[in-house]
Amino acid sequence: MTPPTVLAVLSPPPRRQTAWTWLIPECPYCHKSHTHGAGVDGTVDGHRVSHCADGNDNPGYVIRKASTPPGHQEVAQRARQIADEAVTGSLDRKAAGCLVVLLASTRTLTGARKLLAEIPLADVRQAAADLLDQITHEGENA
Ligand SMILES: [Zn+2]
Repeated sequence: MTPPTVLAVLSPPPRRQTAWTWLIPECPYCHKSHTHGAGVDGTVDGHRVSHCADGNDNPGYVIRKASTPPGHQEVAQRARQIADEAVTGSLDRKAAGCLVVLLASTRTLTGARKLLAEIPLADVRQAAADLLDQITHEGENA
C-alpha cells in the first residue's frame, strides 16, 4: 500500500534554535491529530510513521505543506495564530489547525464550510465552525 499524502500545518518553534512542528489535524488512520518534527528551519518533510495511539498497522503518510489561496490568507493567518497560542492537544488547537488545512484546500469560504461539514469528528467540527464564524465576524467589524 502506498502511503497517502496528508496536508499539514507548519507551526513555528516555541524558542529559537528549536524545531518547527508539523501539525496533522486529522490522521487518515486513527482520525486523531499528530505532530511531527520539521527541523530547525521548518523544511524537513516527506514520509512519516503515524505513531497512532491505537497501534494500527499502517504504511504512514507523506507530509505536504498546506498552502493557502490568496483570498483566505487573513482568515488562515488568524487561525494559525490561534492554533499556535492554544495548548497542544486541546480542542482549540485541533479546531484551528483543522481550519488552516480546510482553508488551504478550498478557494472560497463557502467551500471551506462545505468541507468542514464533512469532518467526522463532531467536537472538532463544531469547534472549527464556531472558530470560523468568530474569525470572519472579527474581520467584518474591523
Ligand atoms: Zn493516527
